[in-house]
Amino acid sequence: MKIAIIGGGWAGIAAAVELAERAPAADLTLFEAGRRLGGRAKQADVADAKNLDNGQHILLGAYRDTLALMQRVGVSPEQKLQRLPLQVRDNQGFRLALPRLSAPFNLAWGLLTAQSVNLKEKFSCALWMQRLKRQQFWLEQDCSVAEWLTAAGQIGVLRQRLWEPLCLAALNTPAERASAQVFAYVLRDSLGSAESGATDLLLPRDTLSALLPEPAAAWLQAREVQIRTRQRIRRLQPVDSVWDVEGEIFNQVIVAVAPQHLSALISPLAPTLPFSAQALRFEPIATIYLHYPSSVALPFPLMSLQSGVGQWLVDRGQGVLAASFSAHNAWETLKGDELAAVLHKEIASLLPDLANTSPPPHHLIKEQRATFSCLPNLPRCPQATPWHGLFIAGDHTWNEYPATLEGAVRSGIQAARLCFANEAKALNT
Ligand SMILES: Cc1cc2nc3c(=O)[nH]c(=O)nc-3n(C[C@H](O)[C@H](O)[C@H](O)COP(=O)(O)OP(=O)(O)OC[C@H]3O[C@@H](n4cnc5c(N)ncnc54)[C@H](O)[C@@H]3O)c2cc1C
Repeated sequence: MKIAIIGGGWAGIAAAVELAERAPAADLTLFEAGRRLGGRAKQADVADAKNLDNGQHILLGAYRDTLALMQRVGVSPEQKLQRLPLQVRDNQGFRLALPRLSAPFNLAWGLLTAQSVNLKEKFSCALWMQRLKRQQFWLEQDCSVAEWLTAAGQIGVLRQRLWEPLCLAALNTPAERASAQVFAYVLRDSLGSAESGATDLLLPRDTLSALLPEPAAAWLQAREVQIRTRQRIRRLQPVDSVWDVEGEIFNQVIVAVAPQHLSALISPLAPTLPFSAQALRFEPIATIYLHYPSSVALPFPLMSLQSGVGQWLVDRGQGVLAASFSAHNAWETLKGDELAAVLHKEIASLLPDLANTSPPPHHLIKEQRATFSCLPNLPRCPQATPWHGLFIAGDHTWNEYPATLEGAVRSGIQAARLCFANEAKALNT
């Protein structure tokens, strides 16, 4: 049984690992258009700087399948990720820190001790969370996060300094346009989870490539999975009951490419899917790495920036600070030097010693189509298709999550399970 996996991002890697474990006798090939595996979450190729990623990523304790996948390929999440109890702190004095307790005690304590929020608002937020929990974070009708917060009476400091920044960080779509239902699912699996540690922030201590793509490649190769990098698949055609992938025959295929690449690859088949990748809209993310002297450090490794262009700031250690600019917004009109200058000022509001200094050297990496816009009622591509032996994976197919590593990994595992079940059925008939 020959199986092709097209696309070596985190979804394709997850599918390959799952299949290599479930069907060790299958002949597996992973095709990747780029020079290395990892897709949107890998080490960047920057000539004059080492260890930068193509975008600063933050993982959560709730990333159950991603953390398990790292372990399956021999990576210790404890060593590769710095685990911190959730804190949202900004440069205007807001602070909400969760203790390591399970829900609802963690949020109750976090709200009680939050700074810059009045008691009435804390109480209203706690009641809203209780209501959400009772309805299992399920909304009768999807709408924008902004409409949802307004309807729930969440209109004060917590909305501006907690919910809206979290929505932008998690969905890469501003609250005015983001899906309330998907945001509710994210809250369910983090703040609403009974597991202590689900809300923890996990910050990479190494490059993204070292977290999964590189060790997974070694693990797969040790199990005789063929990994063909620099091979962009342009032709995928059904022939009788098998698939022609660029002239080579496979029994089953998992397509794990980003949605913007999906249409071209499956265009003859696309009309049979209840989903059109072309209907999706996309949001950019820019990451700017500022190289300060190694003594420069943030008061907390992740800080929210308010009232400026920057949104989140991560301390990568050794004086390197990474700032993210998410979704279509005012920052897009600024060039790299301008962004660095504005950001440097915002950082100086946190670190007054930098107030009269010039912006340090920087690297800017922009991903124009970083994620799909996570809009209300967005139709998602199913993993099973009407075509025998064809499955689809990728962050855009995991309908409970926005574009995230966890959504990508879960989708890859699910597509592999469907493929395996199909193979088992074929063997039994
Ligand atoms: C800047 C940035 C910041 C982000 N921050 C976070 C974060 O903090 N937390 C989080 O959880 N998520 C974050 N994300 C989202 C996360 O990176 C993605 O959701 C995830 O990597 C998607 O994985 P994927 O495998 O579905 O798709 P991709 O990573 O897009 O992988 C698809 C792969 O398919 C390959 N391919 C495409 N066409 C072909 C073809 N025809 N033949 C062969 N190969 C092909 C591509 O080269 C690519 O390697 C961020 C994304 C970006 C860009």
